[in-house]
Amino acid sequence: MMPAEIERIVRQNDIKYVLAQFVDIHGVAKTKSVPANCLMDVVEKGAGFAGFAVWGLGMEPHGPDFMARGDLDTFSVVPWQPGYARIACDGYVNDAPHPYCSRVVLKQQLARLAEKGWTLNTGVEPEFSLFTRDAQGALKPVDESDVLDKPCYDYKGLSRSREFLERLVDALQKVDFDVYQIDHEDANGQFEINYTYSDALTSADRFTFVRMAAGEIANDLDMVCSFMPKPSSDRTGNGMHFHLSITDKDGQNLFHDADDRHGMGLSKLAYHFTAGLLAHAPALCAFAAPTVNSYKRLVVGGNASGATWAPAYVCYGDNNRSAMVRIPYGRLEFRLPDSGCNPYLVTAALIAAGMDGVERELDPGEPMNVNLYSLSLDEIRDKGVGILPQNLNEALDALEADTVFTEALGSEIVSEFIKVKRAEWVEYSRHVSDWEVSHYAEF
Ligand code: ADP
Ligand code: MG
Ligand code: MG
Ligand code: MG
Ligand code: MG
Repeated sequence: MMPAEIERIVRQNDIKYVLAQFVDIHGVAKTKSVPANCLMDVVEKGAGFAGFAVWGLGMEPHGPDFMARGDLDTFSVVPWQPGYARIACDGYVNDAPHPYCSRVVLKQQLARLAEKGWTLNTGVEPEFSLFTRDAQGALKPVDESDVLDKPCYDYKGLSRSREFLERLVDALQKVDFDVYQIDHEDANGQFEINYTYSDALTSADRFTFVRMAAGEIANDLDMVCSFMPKPSSDRTGNGMHFHLSITDKDGQNLFHDADDRHGMGLSKLAYHFTAGLLAHAPALCAFAAPTVNSYKRLVVGGNASGATWAPAYVCYGDNNRSAMVRIPYGRLEFRLPDSGCNPYLVTAALIAAGMDGVERELDPGEPMNVNLYSLSLDEIRDKGVGILPQNLNEALDALEADTVFTEALGSEIVSEFIKVKRAEWVEYSRHVSDWEVSHYAEF
């Protein structure tokens, strides 16, 4: 029997199918359609998948099934696909939580915090690019023809994509997202959508849902919605900042302390957590900027609009948007992740890093309150500020060298991640690009 609340949602929305959904190691949604009357099988036993067919589950073709077991708390309608609901699932193999499933790994990190009575809250800011295809099938930004020096916040861009944006907001509101702002960002066809934060597991489930919604709503309108980190070499990339706070059982924000001597409203706990993020930044980078393309967002240097937002400098500062960690007041903003990340893995990894800072009582040093983009690389180094890895391979080297992640997240998922990503790097490195041909064909 289904719980009464689920039963009501199924009846009122005429739900015929439930999408049993989990993510692969990249954070990409994978599903099976399950007739609604079989929902409880998915919750109790799981929907079976041949795990070998999915990236990064560490499975062989002759092994047991990967069982995606539904978490009833996540059950919701799929507003852009009438008659369907979605349930987020945890991976089980042989009845045990699967150590290669990133949702399972995140739950283990959250349990570490729960033992102390703590809840991690995350508020993410997804950015994405809307494209159409030209006659040759090439992608071009929806508002590319509106050539503007500074497209950010431009009214025309927002207005001309409003059909897509309204459908997306409508879908998210129907499943109780508190959407509070949508804006046109700094690249043609680039947008950001904001909704109120929640506990970290819900946030990761929600970001996955946003990608599913945006992708399909765009497809219905003959568009492509891309969460690629850097679609165009001379325009801003798609970041996904994570705002962070930890609350206790009474909902008190333990990252907040009005007596902070720097006036940023941070507690000692928040400073130690920040120090952990900074200490492990190069390795964290592999999870937060997980594609070869991510490093084109992280490069130090300008954009066509004159604005750069690359969070490449390993430091923190008071409302400083040129630092990797910005302090809005009484919470942290981790600016490194991009929209191509797996939100479960990033959240698990930032808990591992932050809690190492807390457990070892690390000190993040003085905040950097200067515009780092105005300084030369030498001046930045003189201040003792590190620069993040400048390609995926360097980030993977840093991850391999940093034992904190293997200890916290498990050697299974960390080594599988490194294996899959090294293969991606090698494939990319062997590809001969247009740039190479234009530079070397006749030199
Ligand atoms: P900005 O563009 O200034 O970085 P946004 O308004 O785009 O800020 O996003 C802020 C995000 O931070 C939202 O998701 C918001 O709900 C979230 N947030 C606000 N307060 C907290 C908090 N205490 N803990 C975690 N996230 C928070
Ligand atoms: Mg079969
Ligand atoms: Mg924002
Ligand atoms: Mg933005
Ligand atoms: Mg932000």
